[in-house]
Amino acid sequence: MTALRLAPRRVLVLSRAPLGAEGSTLWAQGGVAAAIGADDSPALHAADTIAAGDGLADPAIAAQFARAAPDAIETLSRLGARFDRARDGAYALGLEAAHSRARIVHAGGDGTGREIMRALVAAARQTRSIDILEGFEARRFVVEDNAVRGIIAAGPSGPAAFATDKIVIATGGIGGLFADSTNPLSSFGQGLALAARAGAVMADMEFVQFHPTALDVTTRPMPLISEAVRGEGAILIDEAGDRFMDQTPGAELAPRDVVARAIWRRRAEGKRVFLDARAAIGEGFAARFPIIAAACRAAGVDPAREPIPVRPAQHYHMGGIAVDAEGRTSVAGLWACGEAASTGLHGANRLASNSLAEAAVFAAAIARSIEAAPAREPGPIRSFGAAPSSSVRDAVRPILSRAAGVLRDRERLGCAIGSLAALARFASAADPASVGLMIAVAALRREHSLGAHSRTDFPHRPAEPIHSRLTLAEAFADAEAVAPRSLVRQA
Ligand SMILES: Cc1cc2nc3c(=O)[nH]c(=O)nc-3n(C[C@H](O)[C@H](O)[C@H](O)COP(=O)(O)OP(=O)(O)OC[C@H]3O[C@@H](n4cnc5c(N)ncnc54)[C@H](O)[C@@H]3O)c2cc1C
Repeated sequence: MTALRLAPRRVLVLSRAPLGAEGSTLWAQGGVAAAIGADDSPALHAADTIAAGDGLADPAIAAQFARAAPDAIETLSRLGARFDRARDGAYALGLEAAHSRARIVHAGGDGTGREIMRALVAAARQTRSIDILEGFEARRFVVEDNAVRGIIAAGPSGPAAFATDKIVIATGGIGGLFADSTNPLSSFGQGLALAARAGAVMADMEFVQFHPTALDVTTRPMPLISEAVRGEGAILIDEAGDRFMDQTPGAELAPRDVVARAIWRRRAEGKRVFLDARAAIGEGFAARFPIIAAACRAAGVDPAREPIPVRPAQHYHMGGIAVDAEGRTSVAGLWACGEAASTGLHGANRLASNSLAEAAVFAAAIARSIEAAPAREPGPIRSFGAAPSSSVRDAVRPILSRAAGVLRDRERLGCAIGSLAALARFASAADPASVGLMIAVAALRREHSLGAHSRTDFPHRPAEPIHSRLTLAEAFADAEAVAPRSLVRQA
């Protein structure tokens, strides 16, 4: 989207996989949030975003975002995305958790991300100013005097270096670092590791969203049962058939962290939890939610006739590379967009369907920012050799999942920090372990509970929540102070 917005300026897109074949966008089900209904307004959308963010969402960013979201929908539509329409030709608008209005634009029922990617990839391939290199994984940023000079990638025939004074990171989320996640396993925050190693500041790393209703199966990643199903009236019950969210404000459509903790507690009592769509949707389920129905069928569940087994799973990262309102990081010439970035929009908890909209809105802001940025001399890249592969994340998953899950405490976070700091020193695991380390350190530093960050040893809310900032060097320094040195050496 950023490359398309920059046309006719020349852009080189480095993509690890064939363009559009990998990443979370492809799997997005619910849709894209924008205030376009007759009863809606950007002010209401911003207010819902801020409420879900539990006091940490940045009001100025929320206002900027909500104002620009309708234009992002029009741009996506102009670029070829075929959104579902009502009989009168207007966009068909869905309702999702914690939205006070129906404002979710969707495509193919629950195939929104797939349709957006189809349209954007086709548009990018047809745009002459965009060169696409597939099978190229970014491995290192070349930065001198806190300014971008180039990038080193691993390509099909070995390492390749590209001199440039401007890079936009759009490498997605971190779900691949958790044992239970709805994200592609390939999403392990590599862009965050690259940026952090280049000296960029991270923001709100501790805020990891757990989706309350992943399909409770043993396969990974876990299929998602979108909030839109609860938006259509499906209810949560336990194995005794008791509805347990009806006394909570917002009931099943309360913010995600509230619903995730409620389900987590039921499960901790040894009870299984189900999403019951029989009365609200029934026989129409497969027509309204074809992808979810297929995932349920594959697990032997017929959602029209039986309750769907669900459990919370890592789903989204509100934290990431700290950026300003133009998507600029703390390194000159380095921007970040999409889930890799932390704009401050989501605060402590993301409102459903705000992430695709945020990526589309900030793509435009970043393009404008790049147009206005001064040109610097790129390169020279003196030596680049074989940029080391750093994608071993199997060892990180159990450590991070135990310590930085739905409920957290000092003891488990402290242990995890020691192990992750040790792993981060091994080249093969340095990138995923560094990201895990920064999440654990930020979670340990925040000694209260807020939104998705829930400390059992510090359950109180802060009077005035503030954003956290962290560099990789600070995370290592904390690890030295917190973790027993023997543990660091031994691991
Ligand atoms: C199952 C599911 C359902 C969701 N539903 C919704 C929804 O309905 N609405 C909503 O708003 N959000 C939804 N989300 C969240 C949303 O989809 C993501 O936040 C968003 O798609 C992230 O987009 P992105 O462009 O930042 O990253 P991605 O779409 O994940 O793309 C990242 C890309 O970067 C590439 N890459 C990574 N590392 C490198 C590297 N080192 N070098 C080169 N390339 C690299 C990857 O191959 C990939 O192509 C959902 C997420 C999931 C998992």
